Amino acid sequence: MPDIRLSSLSRCFGPLVAVDDITMTFPEGTVTCLLGPSGCGKTTLMRMIAGLEIPTNGTICFGDRDVTKLPPRRRDVGMVFQYPVMYRPLSVQENIAIALRRERHMPAAEQRRRIEDVMEILQLTSHRDRHIGELDSGTRQKVAVGRAIARSSNVILFDEPTTNVEVSAKLQLIRAFKQFRQRFRQTIIYVTHDQTEAMTLADQIALMQAGRISQCTPPQMLYERPDTEFGGWFLGNPGMNFVSPRGVRDGVLAFDILPDPLVEPSGGAAELRLGIRPEYVRVLPPGSGDGVRARVLRRSIAIGGQRLLTLAVGETRLKAKLAPDHAGLTADEVAIECPLQHAVFFRAGARLPEAPRALSVAAVHA
Ligand code: ATP
Repeated sequence: MPDIRLSSLSRCFGPLVAVDDITMTFPEGTVTCLLGPSGCGKTTLMRMIAGLEIPTNGTICFGDRDVTKLPPRRRDVGMVFQYPVMYRPLSVQENIAIALRRERHMPAAEQRRRIEDVMEILQLTSHRDRHIGELDSGTRQKVAVGRAIARSSNVILFDEPTTNVEVSAKLQLIRAFKQFRQRFRQTIIYVTHDQTEAMTLADQIALMQAGRISQCTPPQMLYERPDTEFGGWFLGNPGMNFVSPRGVRDGVLAFDILPDPLVEPSGGAAELRLGIRPEYVRVLPPGSGDGVRARVLRRSIAIGGQRLLTLAVGETRLKAKLAPDHAGLTADEVAIECPLQHAVFFRAGARLPEAPRALSVAAVHA
């Protein structure tokens, strides 16, 4: 399997820079999800890799092969689109078989075995003789996936394949995707704007913002240690809380939400901000341990059924995510703890490599 290497890749549409000077590698045999807000350039980037869009600048290599100027059919990539093109009068099996027409080097027996394998993995065997027109949107999309993986392409591109299928079919598709990954190890690029899908499927997520890659790391790392405030904000429902210090004096920072001050790290005049995800804000009964007193401003329900408290500590506002049976849900006042091991610090929107050190209040007054 080749890796995919992009070097200084850009695409402009008139004055609009849709993809802006991207240099990155998609490692061989892995799944990379391109994730980002609408209009950030995901589809344009993927279309350039497919050969459907000509770069304004830069190169694309599959392994050592420079494919920048090759037409799509000479790149040998499988593609699954939002709206798959299907041969409606043909059956599921025939639609998958058609994908193998150009695989002349593959003996007929091997082709038959491959079609059976793919149908089994995608749980399409019982639909083999049904016509595409008789299938629901999820099953049709599974056939599209089947056609892409049946071929011997080493690279498969998925462009938001679950956007137009119902929720239950979407879960089925995701299960099928995981199953075929256990058998086949193509290099996969998967465009989505659904962060749950990206977190579930990806070996790494390439988070895009305004035509650039903001960060490309394994999902958990992106979630826990975003390189930018944008990453902290974009991932999560809701995203990270960002808290400015109440004051800075002689290199010591005070935050409303922390009981102890922090030593300000050197480097940079811009304000330093603390980021913490709502699920890491611990909510305790008032007066507990080292907890800081907080007023409950609002209660709401978060995606997934968890409860969300909007809290006020001095001038600071932040959100805490709780289990639906959490005792703190009815209180008007609570204590909160924001464990430093879950806090991330940013200056001018970029994460500091190291967290500032905590000082005890006693040390400040000594
Ligand atoms: P979405 O999630 O909404 O599909 P995206 O991240 O895939 O968005 P693109 O479709 O790549 O974003 O578009 C990036 C930018 O390029 C957008 O501003 C879009 O309007 C613009 N764009 C894309 N294709 C063209 C085109 N053929 N002509 C002019 N502008 C284009």
